[in-house]
Amino acid sequence: MKTKQLNHRYYFIIVLLSIGLFSCNENNNAPSWILTNGKILTVDNDFTIVEAMAIKDNCILGTGTTEEMLSLANTSTKVTDLKGQTVIPGLIDNHMHFVRASKHWYRMVRWDKITSRQEALEMVQKRAKKLPKDEWVIVMGGFIFDQFKDNSTLFTINELDSILPNQPLFIQEGYSRAFVNTAALKAAGLLNNKNPKHLESLKKNNGMILGRTQAMKILSNAIPEPSIKVWDESLTMAMDSLLRMGLTAVYDVGGNTVNLSFYESIKRFAANDALKIRFFYSLNEQNSASGSVEEIINELQNNRPNFKDLQNAQFGYGETVYRPMRARPFKVTDEDQEHFRNIVTTAIKNDWQIHEHSLQEEKVKTMLDNLEKVAESYPEMKDLRFTIAHTNGMSEESIQRAINLNMVFAVHSSSRLMSKKRYESGAKPPPIKKINKMGGIWGLGSDGTTVASPNPFHTIDWVISGRNIAGNKYMTQLVSREDALRAHTATNAYLLFREKDLGSLETGKRADFIVLNKDYMTIPNEEIKNLHSVLSVIDGKIVYASK
Ligand SMILES: [Zn+2]
Repeated sequence: MKTKQLNHRYYFIIVLLSIGLFSCNENNNAPSWILTNGKILTVDNDFTIVEAMAIKDNCILGTGTTEEMLSLANTSTKVTDLKGQTVIPGLIDNHMHFVRASKHWYRMVRWDKITSRQEALEMVQKRAKKLPKDEWVIVMGGFIFDQFKDNSTLFTINELDSILPNQPLFIQEGYSRAFVNTAALKAAGLLNNKNPKHLESLKKNNGMILGRTQAMKILSNAIPEPSIKVWDESLTMAMDSLLRMGLTAVYDVGGNTVNLSFYESIKRFAANDALKIRFFYSLNEQNSASGSVEEIINELQNNRPNFKDLQNAQFGYGETVYRPMRARPFKVTDEDQEHFRNIVTTAIKNDWQIHEHSLQEEKVKTMLDNLEKVAESYPEMKDLRFTIAHTNGMSEESIQRAINLNMVFAVHSSSRLMSKKRYESGAKPPPIKKINKMGGIWGLGSDGTTVASPNPFHTIDWVISGRNIAGNKYMTQLVSREDALRAHTATNAYLLFREKDLGSLETGKRADFIVLNKDYMTIPNEEIKNLHSVLSVIDGKIVYASK
C-alpha cells in the first residue's frame, strides 16, 4: 500500500515536470527572439504598454523596456527592431461561420468597405479573370446597397450581364435576396421550359430572387461543389486573409447549410499540422447534433468538450441550442421550453458551454426564465460561461439577469450592415455601452461572413465610431479603443476557456501577436477600418508577413 502511494507521488512529480517542459513557465533559458523599440499593447489588466518583448520558442518570456529585454539575450537570440511599430495580441473572433465561408473563398468577392458600385463590379470582373472560364463568381453577403454612393439602386440582370456576359454570377444580399446574370440562370437550368414559373417571376423581378423560394434553392444548389484540392486551396486562402486582417484564432459556430462535410478540409489540415490559425468550433446541429431532442441529448452525452487543445478543438454547443427557441415571431410552447431545459441540463452535466443565438428581447427573457430555473438545481451552470450571442436589443434588466448567471456577452457587427430603412424602422444594435458599464463580460466577433464583414477592424471601427458600412452613425452604444481591443482579445480568450494561454501579451502566455501597419491608439477614427497586420505570429512562429 505504502509503495503504491509512493509510486503515485513519484508519478505526480513526473507529470508536473513534463507539464513544465511544455508550459510557458520555463524561464531558465535565454530568449530565442526579442522584439525591441516598439509600442506593444499587452492588453493585461492595466492595459500596460511596453517597448519590448522576449520570446522563448512558443511562449512569452517577459515584457519591459528594450534595455531590460536585451539584457536577457545570448549570442543565438534573434533581435527584431520594431522601429516604433505597434504590436497587439492576436485577435480572436468569438463567432464566425468560417468553414462555410472558406469553402467558396476562392471565388468570393467581398465588398466589406467598398463605397463605389463601379469599383464593386470591377472587383467581380477581376475575380472572374482569375478563375476558369465557366467558374461561378459569387458575392455571399457582407454588403448593403446604401453603401454604394454612386448608385444605390438594386442590381438588374442587364447590368450584371454587361459586367459578366459568360460566367455565372450570383450576388446574395444577407439571406433575403439574390441577384444573378443570365449565365447563372442558364447554368442552374432555369432558362428552359421545365421551370416556366420561376423564369416568369425572375423576369418580372429583373433577375432578383427572393430568399426562401424554390428558385433561390435551385440557384444556390447549382453553385458547384469544389473538388477536395480546390477546397483545400480555398481554405488556405481564407486563413491567409484572416491572418492579414489580424486574426489568429476563430470560433466557428456552424450555420445554415453547414454539414459534417464542411469540417473535412479543416480536419485534413489539422492532421498534417498545417492549420495556420487556431481553430475552435462548436458542437452544433449541423456538424453533429441534429434536430430531435433525443438526438441532441445523445450528442451532448456521447461527446466531450475539449478545453485543452490550443490549435484545433471542439467545445461549446451552439449557436442554435434548440431550433423551436428561434421561432420568429417568438412563440414557444411550454413543452418546448421543457425540452430546452432538458437539453441545457444535459449540457451542464457534460461540461458543454452553451452559446445561444439571441436577437430579440422576448427570446432573451424566455431563455433567462428557463436558465434561472435550471441554475436553481444545477448551480455549476455558472462556471460554464454560458454565452448570449449577438445581444441586439437586450434590456438593462435582462443584462443584469445574465450577469447574475455569470453569462458572457458575444457581441457581433451585423448591425454595421444596418440599412437606412432598417434603422428608421427601429432595428436595435447590441447595447455594448450598457453591458460594459454594468460590468458584463463581453467580447467582439463578426458573425461573418454572410451578414457581416469578417474583418475585426471593421467591427472595432463600428463600436468606436458608431458608423455603419455606408458611413452613417446609427450606433450610439460606443466604447473606447482600449475596451474594443480587450473585447477582441483577452475577453474572447476567456469565452473560449483559453485565458491562461491566449488573449494578452504577458509572461507565460503563448506568443500570438500581430505587428500593425499603423498605430491603433493614435490614428484618426476614419483609419481604424484600414488597419491590418504586417506580421502575424502564432506560437512564436511567423505565419504571415506582408510583401
Ligand atoms: Zn446567430
